[in-house]
Amino acid sequence: MTRLTRRAKLSDDELLHYISTDDPAEAEALFARARAEREKYYGADVYFRGLIEFTNYCKNDCLYCGIRRSNRNVERYRLSVDQILNCAALGSMLGYHTFVLQGGEDTYFTDERVVEIVGALHEKYPGCAITLSIGERSEESYAAFREAGAARYLLRHETANEAHYAMLHPASMSLENRKQCLYNLKKLRFQVGSGFMVGTPYQTPENLLEDLRFLQELEPDMVGIGPFIPQSDTPFGGEPGGSLEQTLRMVALSRLLLPSALIPATTALGTIHGHGREKALLAGANVVMPNLSPKNVRKLYALYDNKICTGDEAAECLGCMTGRIKRAGFIPNMCRGDVALKRPRSVRLHRTE
Ligand code: SAM
Repeated sequence: MTRLTRRAKLSDDELLHYISTDDPAEAEALFARARAEREKYYGADVYFRGLIEFTNYCKNDCLYCGIRRSNRNVERYRLSVDQILNCAALGSMLGYHTFVLQGGEDTYFTDERVVEIVGALHEKYPGCAITLSIGERSEESYAAFREAGAARYLLRHETANEAHYAMLHPASMSLENRKQCLYNLKKLRFQVGSGFMVGTPYQTPENLLEDLRFLQELEPDMVGIGPFIPQSDTPFGGEPGGSLEQTLRMVALSRLLLPSALIPATTALGTIHGHGREKALLAGANVVMPNLSPKNVRKLYALYDNKICTGDEAAECLGCMTGRIKRAGFIPNMCRGDVALKRPRSVRLHRTE
């Protein structure tokens, strides 16, 4: 059995071993170590983000994604500014202090429109963190969003290997541009989230090692990791999905390599296993992202098949997650949940942007 020593010293061989091991005892030891690491920075707190999926139009054609441009079976929708503000109003009433605006790369939402939405949210809810997750834009666009009041940005790198990236995306997209966007966001002092899917077609253990090493290099504040889940109307609709066990090990390894990161227990994990999100918390995750989108559009944001929580009201989602978190032995926390400074909790301050 490989021994886990100090976090920063995990060698490529050790990481590859944990990426691939199918020994449950080894995995459990890894999760325990990740939990202890998370505890040092965040205690038992689990932070809530209110997710608003505001458009499923997308100009991109990522081969894995259910809302890709070529999927003619998607009923497209976009929320109006008023609808988005209503979602936030409901979220605020329920106690959320973070709103995540996520959508496909929808050209209708020009920089001006995004700035208008972010500005309105920032003015109405100055104590809340506004997070955007709307894909690749120019540095100037990101600067305008930052100026308008957005503090965080989620953009998964998806895979850090060039050749693998090309197998998952059309030729019009490049890993180089993805990485450039991430570095631009960092330069603009966004709290940046990156991450990847586990079990995408053609992925090798070495690719996952590259993902971890890229995260170490980027040092994002947030790391989103979920299993790939096939969506039947995409070119990868017949491929196998990523495994629960390997996804959990990747969550734990990310925690060890980036101990102060905010790591969500993703909806995709909850989709492949009834207690996938609780298991992620027990493997080092410390964030959940319940849905605040209007109930009538939730099914339409179908990135993958059988997505959970598409039939619940926002208050039901919140109640359900709160119960799950408590039963798993953690403490629900509805504050902004900024990233901890890169030192343990006993001497910790929070960044408050
Ligand atoms: N357009 C934005 C972007 O590209 O960052 C945000 C929306 S995008 C649909 C959000 C994330 O969904 C992607 O980063 C990807 O990792 C994930 N995703 C898409 N298709 C998926 C699938 N079939 N299984 C699991 N996750 C998927």
